[in-house]
Amino acid sequence: MLKGPELAAFRKQLLAWFRQFQRDLPWRRTRDPYRVWLSEIMLQQTRVAAVIPYYKRFLERFPNVLALAAAREEEVLRLWSGLGYYSRARNLQRSAQQIVGEHGGKFPSHSEDVLSLPGIGNYTAAAILSIAFDKKHAVLDGNVARVLARLGAVRGDLRSSLGRQGLQKWADAYLDRKSPGDWNQAMMELGATLCSPKSPQCLLCPVAQFCEGRKQGIADLLPEKRKKRATVEIRLAAAVFSDQQGRTLLLPPPEEKNREPLVDHVPTLVSHLWHFPTIPVSGDAVAKLRGHMRRLRVQSQNGGLHFVAANKVRHTVTYRSITVEPFCIGVKKLPRIKGAERVPLGEITILPVSNLTRKVARAALAAAFPGKSAHS
Ligand code: SF4
Repeated sequence: MLKGPELAAFRKQLLAWFRQFQRDLPWRRTRDPYRVWLSEIMLQQTRVAAVIPYYKRFLERFPNVLALAAAREEEVLRLWSGLGYYSRARNLQRSAQQIVGEHGGKFPSHSEDVLSLPGIGNYTAAAILSIAFDKKHAVLDGNVARVLARLGAVRGDLRSSLGRQGLQKWADAYLDRKSPGDWNQAMMELGATLCSPKSPQCLLCPVAQFCEGRKQGIADLLPEKRKKRATVEIRLAAAVFSDQQGRTLLLPPPEEKNREPLVDHVPTLVSHLWHFPTIPVSGDAVAKLRGHMRRLRVQSQNGGLHFVAANKVRHTVTYRSITVEPFCIGVKKLPRIKGAERVPLGEITILPVSNLTRKVARAALAAAFPGKSAHS
């Protein structure tokens, strides 16, 4: 671990590099805790380039905590639609309501208050407190962990609780106490740009002289890989209805408490948003879907129900590898299902839907109505 004058030189060089070469990102032009918070939540598991347009749109509609707290959840989810991990949006709004209820709409600046907000853990709290309030909290996200592991040539599983605790102590010791916000961002920026997971660009690195991993020639092997969780294959069939007016049927976000046993796997896969009637299948998907249609009392257009198979849609959520088989089903009347909405098949995004549901709609439109496409 670096100490004394060496640590001082390390801090000075990294901060100078960050101040000169940092990427110009919209959330770096402000210290408004609401904006810093929003960016941190959006950036979780999501690339910077994907976040920027969402961040701007979200702020245009919800410029402050009060506006977000007062919004309809559906509208918040619609603006989040396509960004994924929708629990983030729900937690964001619950937090906004808590901030209004408990702090008069002013973002709290005490660690315990920030940590009590839904969806905010140690990392996000440290980022907001340091960047917006200059509080001395060191962040430890994946980027910072990788930089620290390489700087100190740390081997072993960084995700174990011992590994994590060790790195947090290290991050705390390195924190520049005069500029904690810039320091945290500098460490993250180094990890996100030069000290990237696959090929660290040590020749350009402002702190290469302090890096033990580089000296030992093992930088690109660190952090050591952990064992991957085995992939779980999930197969689903989706019923994409189309009535005589070209409308389809979307089901409301499944709720934990009254979810149907038939659609057990579906809530997490559709991110608790609007979705096509979908069931898990094995073997003959059409036979299984027909059985489901009988239970829904679906009326056919003329005689039996005709299923048109669309191209399969593949989607991955962490360790789950999902294949959805969409079937277009022409019907005289859309079945009546409690809470379901009728929407034009080409315009399903008027409701908050997941990326997976968008892909299903596109595949169904391509199969049933070549030449049309779903808005995305
Ligand atoms: S020298 Fe290389 S491995 Fe070390 S911190 Fe810099 S970019 Fe990362």
